[in-house]
Amino acid sequence: MVLSPPTLEGLPDSPYAAELRKARPSARFAAAMEAEYVRGFLRDNRTLVRLSCTLAVLLLALRGFEVLIGGSSGESSRPAFLGVAGTSLILLWLAWSRGYERRYLPWAHVLIPVRNSIVAAQLVRVAAHGQLDVLTLLPLILLGPFYFMGLQYRTALLVVSLSGASMLASAVVFQLPPTIAFHSGAFALIAIVAFAVTAQQIEKRSRRAFLESRLVAELAQHDVLTWTKNRRMFDEYLPRLWRQAAEDDRSLAILLVDVDHFKPYNDRYGHQAGDAALRKVAQAIQACVRRPLDLVARYGGEEFTAILYDTDGPRASSSAEHIRKCVEALSIEHRGSRAGPVLTVSIGVAVVVPDAGRSPGGALQLADEALYRAKSKGRNRVEIMDEAEYRLLVTGVFPQEVADKLKKGTKH
Ligand code: GH3
Ligand code: MG
Ligand code: MG
Repeated sequence: MVLSPPTLEGLPDSPYAAELRKARPSARFAAAMEAEYVRGFLRDNRTLVRLSCTLAVLLLALRGFEVLIGGSSGESSRPAFLGVAGTSLILLWLAWSRGYERRYLPWAHVLIPVRNSIVAAQLVRVAAHGQLDVLTLLPLILLGPFYFMGLQYRTALLVVSLSGASMLASAVVFQLPPTIAFHSGAFALIAIVAFAVTAQQIEKRSRRAFLESRLVAELAQHDVLTWTKNRRMFDEYLPRLWRQAAEDDRSLAILLVDVDHFKPYNDRYGHQAGDAALRKVAQAIQACVRRPLDLVARYGGEEFTAILYDTDGPRASSSAEHIRKCVEALSIEHRGSRAGPVLTVSIGVAVVVPDAGRSPGGALQLADEALYRAKSKGRNRVEIMDEAEYRLLVTGVFPQEVADKLKKGTKH
């Protein structure tokens, strides 16, 4: 079966989807997304940037500026030579340095326009003294900023325009013969337009590819109905946080949040209303869990889970109670519920201090038992089970030899 490309209609809110939905995508994203895009762009183009910076220095050393300072007015071009050599060496160092992704661009935005404008002026100056062959270097000045220097299209256009202005001024100052000035100027103008249009198209495609790849990554991590993290993410994240908590000797709280009498809700109000209610419940839970290491996920059906890092019994209990109250405060009418007039949730909480000898499976079972208790005590309530009950559990205990191995592993 041939699948048609997915439409973006009905996708839950994602900044990447919102950008892709625009009829005319922005040439610049909002600040945080733009920074993310530029960082990725710089990483992807690092080889090209290194190559162009290295070539610039080689060219300078081997050929280009030798020609210029060997020209008829060699003395007066020495400051220009030093300026170009200095900026090129700094750019080379930045391109090869460890802090490339952080430092290269802010410096490049200043150094490349300065360096290229000096080179452009010098080319014209030397050409005006009769060495017309230096004009063969013109394409490098006009092409480089667009494709090889890690600049975005708009900045590159600015750099090239400045170089063009610098050439024009030099042509007047050094009295370049009019026919040569006209031919070089016309060539430069056509080249700038052609390179700029091509670079703009390439950047447009690159921005679109960035948005699509980010959206795919988001879709792979999220539940598409509620836009909380999905079960796969939860299954990956819990063991990671578990290991970290074991290393840091911190407690973890695992909450299982189950909507009360949801089957009757669907039966009475319809499946679509059920979906809308699940979305609201998910948002309410998510709004209560905002610390960086904590995670909310859809565990399955009408059940959500939250992992709270470094959270002891009293804090876990008050967080769960806060979530329960927030869902109740949504005031979603539920006439078919025996737990109250509105949609409610029951929450089972397990608070444990992970150790290397146990897997998170036992803690999840503990939360499940707590949830069962909350349901059997009448629903719309929080039940908490902690370390004492956890020790009695057999699920999640590794056989002794596995536990020993894991203990050894954490010591390294
Ligand atoms: P309890 O209070 O014991 O949890 O009762 P319950 O009715 O909520 O539990 P039960 O497990 O019997 O029913 C869960 C219901 O959740 C059944 C199913 O139709 C509904 N459900 C699960 N996933 C979705 C979903 O994505 N959308 C909608 N609308 N309903 C869902
Ligand atoms: Mg339920
Ligand atoms: Mg359930």
